[in-house]
Amino acid sequence: MRILRTIAEVRSAIREARADGQTVGLVPTMGAFHEGHLSLMREARAHHDLVVVSLFVNPTQFAPNEDLSTYPRDEARDAELAKAEGVDILFAPEPAEIYPEGFATSIHVAGISEVLDGAIRGAHHFDGVATVVTKLFGIVRPDAAYFGQKDAQQVLVVRRVVRDLDLDVRIVACPIVREADGLAMSSRNVHLDADARERATALSRALDAGAAALRSGDPIVPAARAVLAESGIDPEYLELRDAETLEPVTRVDRDALLLVAARVGTTRLIDNHLLRGPYAPASATASLPDGKDDA
Ligand code: AMP
Repeated sequence: MRILRTIAEVRSAIREARADGQTVGLVPTMGAFHEGHLSLMREARAHHDLVVVSLFVNPTQFAPNEDLSTYPRDEARDAELAKAEGVDILFAPEPAEIYPEGFATSIHVAGISEVLDGAIRGAHHFDGVATVVTKLFGIVRPDAAYFGQKDAQQVLVVRRVVRDLDLDVRIVACPIVREADGLAMSSRNVHLDADARERATALSRALDAGAAALRSGDPIVPAARAVLAESGIDPEYLELRDAETLEPVTRVDRDALLLVAARVGTTRLIDNHLLRGPYAPASATASLPDGKDDA
């Protein structure tokens, strides 16, 4: 595995691979790898000749009051883990390589990037994500890029950028990887103390309760909210939204996402469940945001 720091080095490596007829898969990350990240690398490894993982804690997607300075970083460990997954290139640039003096462009996706995490964290968050991911696509020019359904809104924002800007990359959304007790894996979980780690399981249990309520015909959001309340968690949001448009919905007539964000102790966590709508013909479900489907 090669660790590359500059855009020029990556471009040159990609040019060589392309000249050889190789396909390229990209996994964008902010590092502090866990099984969630590794599952994306394995999926990319299974489908491409050359696998590129980017490791970049993107400053523009953090607000000034957020955890940029305390975000977990351990490049040496990450490099070992990526190497063990058969990754070919770890692209780990310095911020100045990505945002040189005079950088002035930002991509804003109206609508879906302005709700939920976009409303709580501010519009800069998904602008930062959309801009850096688009840059990575421009640098690596992958055939496909792999994202986690853990960040369901991020997947939708990236898909919209790809569609609206006619970017020639397939977006693959991979399932949420969880700890044995249901907690969605996250780089931020290391910040949970013992009490918060225990209470954090309420997020996935709340989503499970929402899914059970759907099956029994009971109100979904109140069922989920009750589980959070038992653990003393007052969520930043707990909402049922259309799985493609993120419009608020009250019933699961089509596929819907039950999404939650909450602070547990000092750590901000997010999670979601896809709630399947009634049966629809295969053609109508071909571009749903879960599973491994095309953009
Ligand atoms: P991050 O380093 O947190 O920006 O995450 C990099 C990629 O890994 C994103 O596409 C995330 O959605 C994905 N990811 C993070 N946690 C998980 C998880 N628990 N399961 C699956 N994918 C994940």
